[in-house]
Amino acid sequence: MSGVLLALNAGSSSLKFALYEAATLAPLCRGGVAGLGETGQPAHFSAHGPEAGKLSALASLAPDIDHEGAARWLIDAIAARQPELELAVVGHRVVHGGAEFDRPVRVTPDILQRLSAYAPLAPSHQPHNLAPIRSLLASRPDLPQIACFDTAFHRTQPRLAQLFPLPRAFAERGVLRYGFHGLSYQFIAEELRLLRGERAQGRVIVAHLGHGASLCAMRGLTSVATTMGFTALDGLMMGSRSGAIDPGLLLHLILEEGMTAKALHELLYNESGLLGVSGVSDDLRALEADASPAAEEAMALFAYRAAREIGSLASAVGGLDILVFTAGIGENSPAMRARICAFLGHLGVAIDAEANRRGAASIGAAEAAAEVLVLATNEEAVIAEAAQRLWREGAGEP
Ligand code: ADP
Repeated sequence: MSGVLLALNAGSSSLKFALYEAATLAPLCRGGVAGLGETGQPAHFSAHGPEAGKLSALASLAPDIDHEGAARWLIDAIAARQPELELAVVGHRVVHGGAEFDRPVRVTPDILQRLSAYAPLAPSHQPHNLAPIRSLLASRPDLPQIACFDTAFHRTQPRLAQLFPLPRAFAERGVLRYGFHGLSYQFIAEELRLLRGERAQGRVIVAHLGHGASLCAMRGLTSVATTMGFTALDGLMMGSRSGAIDPGLLLHLILEEGMTAKALHELLYNESGLLGVSGVSDDLRALEADASPAAEEAMALFAYRAAREIGSLASAVGGLDILVFTAGIGENSPAMRARICAFLGHLGVAIDAEANRRGAASIGAAEAAAEVLVLATNEEAVIAEAAQRLWREGAGEP
C-alpha cells in the first residue's frame, strides 16, 4: 500500500478517526475511542471497515487514558502494521482558528504556537485537538499534519453577523462571533450541492444537533449566520451546555451569589442543557426512555429553543427553502425533529410523519413550501479531502 491518511476528530469526551488510502481516499477503517476525560466511563475502542481487524487486534487501551494518549495509541497501532499501513499524512479537526485561519493549513511549530493561543476560547476541545499534533511534531517532524478548522466555514459571514454590540475596541482585538461545527456544515453544503443543485443555492438552515449543537444559515452554500459565537457555548441548548443565557444572570451569580469563574464554567459547560434541566442525562436516548416530567420538560425546552433560533436565522437569511437535520440527534431522533418542526409552520415547514418516523432523507410534506432533509454528516471526510490536497501540494503534485 502506498500510504494511509489518518483523519483525527477529537471531541470533548471522544476521539473519532477515519483511515483512508492516501492516494485515492478509499476508506479503510473508521471508529473511535469513547470515554475519554471525566466521563466516569472507561476508555473504549471500536472500529469498523475493511482494515478494522488489524487495529482492533491490538492490546486493549488503559481505561484511564486521555486524549493525547489515545491518539498516540492509535498512531502506534498504525505504525505497528507497517509496511501494510504506512502513515503518509494526518489531518486534524481543530476547533478554533480565530479570524486568522480561514482555510486548512499544514502545521509548523510556529502555527502550533499560534493555535495554542485559542485554547482558552474552546477549553473542552482545542487542547485535545492540539495535543496529538504537538506530540507528532516532536516524534515525526517530517510527517505532514494538516489542521482543518471548525471556525473557517463561517469566515464568509457579513461583518454584522460577526460583531457583538460591545465597544469597538473589543472587535479590534478579536472579540467576534466565530461560529463552530464548520467541518460538518461544509460537508452538508457539498451534499446539498450534489443533491439539490440550484435550489441548494437558496436559503438553507442546517441544524447540527449532537452533544454540542448549533445552526448555520447559508445562502449560495456559504455561511451567513450561525448560533455559536465567540465560544461554543452560545446559541442552542445542548447536552450539558446552557447555550445562550441572559448575561445579566451571569453577573448576578458572580456578584450576588459569589460564584467563582471556575464554578460558573462548570455550570455552563457541564451541568446545564439536557442534563441540567432533566437531572437525568445529557444523552437524548436516555431522556426518550425516561418517563419523568423533568426529562419531558428538558426535551420540550430543547425543541423550543431550537425553533426560536431557527426563526432568528431565517430572518438573517431572508426566509427558508431547505431545513437540514444532522448529527447524533438530528439524524436519529424522529421525535425531536417532529417537536422542532411543529413550531415552524410559519416558515413553510410541515413534515410527513411516516417519512420522519422511518428516517427518510426527505421528510417534508409534499405540499409544504420548505423542504426538510435528514443528512448524515461526515467531518472526517472533509478533513481527509483537505489533508490529501495539501499533502499533494506539499509533495509538488498537482
Ligand atoms: P458529538 O457532538 O459528541 O459528536 P453526536 O453527534 O454523536 O455528538 O450526538 C450525540 C447525541 O445524539 C446524544 O445526545 C445522543 O443521545 C444522540 N443520539 C444518538 N443516537 C440517537 C438515537 N438513536 N435516538 C436519539 N438520540 C440519539
